[in-house]
Amino acid sequence: MRVTSVGPHGRRDAGRTSLGNVRTVNPDAALPDEPRARLRRQLEDLARNFRWVWDVPTQQLFARVSVDGWEVGHRSPLQLLADLEESTWRDLAADADFVRDADHLHAELLAYVQPGRPPRAPQVAYFSPEFGVAESLPQYSGGLGVLAGDHLKAASDLDLSLVGVGLFYRQGFFRQELVPGQGQLEHYRDIRPEMVGLQKVHGAAATVAVGDENVAVQVWKADVGRITLLLLDTHVDGNSERARHITDRLYGGDQAHRVRQELILGVAGVRVLRSLGMAPRVYHLNEGHAGFLALERIRAQMVSSGASLHEAVEQNRASLVFTTHTPVPAGIDRFPRDLMQTYLGGWCEGVGVSIDELMELGRYADDGPDAFNMAAFCLRVSGRANGVSQLHGAVSRSMFASVFPDTPERDVPITAVTNGVHARTWTSPEVQAIFDRVIGVDWPDASADDWRAVSALGDDELRDARVAARERLVRFVRDRLAERGQTHAAEALDPGALTIGFARRFATYKRATLLLSDRDRLERLLLDGDRPVQVVFAGKAHPADEPGKALLRQVLEVSADPTFAGRFVFIDDYDIGVARALYHGSDVWLNNPVRPQEACGTSGEKAALNGALNFSVLDGWWAEMYDGGNGWSIPSFEEFEDRVTRDAAEVGVLYDVLENEIVPLFYADGRPLSSRWLDRVRHTWASLGPQVTASRMVRDYQDRLYRPIPGRPY
Ligand SMILES: *Cc1c(COP(=O)(O)O)cnc(C)c1O
Repeated sequence: MRVTSVGPHGRRDAGRTSLGNVRTVNPDAALPDEPRARLRRQLEDLARNFRWVWDVPTQQLFARVSVDGWEVGHRSPLQLLADLEESTWRDLAADADFVRDADHLHAELLAYVQPGRPPRAPQVAYFSPEFGVAESLPQYSGGLGVLAGDHLKAASDLDLSLVGVGLFYRQGFFRQELVPGQGQLEHYRDIRPEMVGLQKVHGAAATVAVGDENVAVQVWKADVGRITLLLLDTHVDGNSERARHITDRLYGGDQAHRVRQELILGVAGVRVLRSLGMAPRVYHLNEGHAGFLALERIRAQMVSSGASLHEAVEQNRASLVFTTHTPVPAGIDRFPRDLMQTYLGGWCEGVGVSIDELMELGRYADDGPDAFNMAAFCLRVSGRANGVSQLHGAVSRSMFASVFPDTPERDVPITAVTNGVHARTWTSPEVQAIFDRVIGVDWPDASADDWRAVSALGDDELRDARVAARERLVRFVRDRLAERGQTHAAEALDPGALTIGFARRFATYKRATLLLSDRDRLERLLLDGDRPVQVVFAGKAHPADEPGKALLRQVLEVSADPTFAGRFVFIDDYDIGVARALYHGSDVWLNNPVRPQEACGTSGEKAALNGALNFSVLDGWWAEMYDGGNGWSIPSFEEFEDRVTRDAAEVGVLYDVLENEIVPLFYADGRPLSSRWLDRVRHTWASLGPQVTASRMVRDYQDRLYRPIPGRPY
């Protein structure tokens, strides 16, 4: 099947996808006189550029088209427009207010992307196996992808010259169904690229040897504000059935499948950029999955200049930036020698290098000589590397010290850039309105001084914003449970109760069941009639993670226990939409990983921007940003080697703090959201606002990792 981008009038829209001037919006196209056609074109332009994800007025415009189609349909604007009846178009075009607002927002989009300005060659190519841009584009599984999406959005706002490179997975990541007694079921659906906002890039192509066959890719692009995201797809006529399936699902299949995907991402990714005439100065590897791009760069160097393997590594080093994202070994690709032989034997032959020499580049002490560790490889070939929080940087220096045997641990060349989150994507409309007014519309990039303005906010205004967001969360939960046919959906949760949010992947180190491990205290907490507390849970387990799935079943059981009657709910199909509802409406954001295994954690940053107070283990970002007043900490008893003893000790303190500090403070004035609580919300904003945003993060990358290395050629 070959799919071509179809323009608003049904014609092929080749002009919009010529790279170098990658734009959705074309202001000079002759506007049809017909108001309905003009409105349609404007709405489709607004839908096709993912800037709508962080523009509340554009979202509100889509919701006016059809509230149900918008929220129930997973906020998929192109689908929304495609489903409209002709009569609705007629009504919209006859609605003068609507037409004026569409006109205005379309003009704002044009002003943002400036389609007329000369194209710039991207300086930075950002490679990632997943990108979480919107829930309507399910090309992400969790934090890594959402972070990549936030990186692109912040780069767009800061007007960096950056291009994103990833894969287009025909079936994306799985949708989760929860079945009592069984746990998680996984469903996959085919995605139609043009329906989710992708456009075919004509003239971009690459072919890569994958094992014993040549595989061709086609390329899609997403416009993320001013940034282009290129997604490679092997579902191409002429490819074998097996080759077409390489980009079928995110994190599906076995290790061989993973190698095949990573060859497409890394090797074909570099070749696609070349085919488009792009020669970025920096290649940023977001996690080791993109590591094979280095091999393609090294190969090209060896072939063109006759350099040896080690000379080529040296010559390329300055162009490679590597970000490691996890200290958990299961999160790092380690490919066995026979697999490397099968899929990279041809690479070795092509440059005259033995498989042993290649394996040596991916050697990691604990894995032995027959494993190729992608993180170790990326560290050996990259000029700069970082972890994603200060603590994770230190953990990584220790963990990878053996890769740098001549360097003392403290000098291991792995620095840290703490992750941040894209502020306007993740904050509620209520909170954005407050910040727009008291800090100014540039608040996502404001200084610590500017953020101090929030201390002047009045209790009532703050309380109203928090209550509105919590009520929306409660409605969201009830609607979702009703959709799933649950009988007591309408009584689930209490819109006035202290709400604890917990949403994350069910990786075992995140200890999703810690809170449940003391059932008596949980009951007392949730069933208190005077000071009600409730918990909202969400999360997916990786399809192959059996221990994670077992934890998920335990949480599901508690949520079905009538004892807790609507005070403990588990929302299915955790995605960007579920996450957003939880960040907006939770009063307390709970995170209790086994320290120091949470490299950063970004959900707490999103909750904090919305005025939730964090209650977390001092791991990742929280270890450096908790100041004693902007939330609470959960101590880590790392001295207990036995996990059962350690968990018991940590959950004991967790309940102490909840019972003695958090709940009493929330209800201190005899009603929810006491003024002392609101003091903490203001302090949370003032202290964390300037630190947790993706603008701060991308600026750090720009200043510290993307800058030329003095004295190094490119
Ligand atoms: C932010 C986010 C994550 C990452 O959260 P952690 O705190 O790192 O677990 C995962 N999934 C979604 C949908 C998110 O928005």
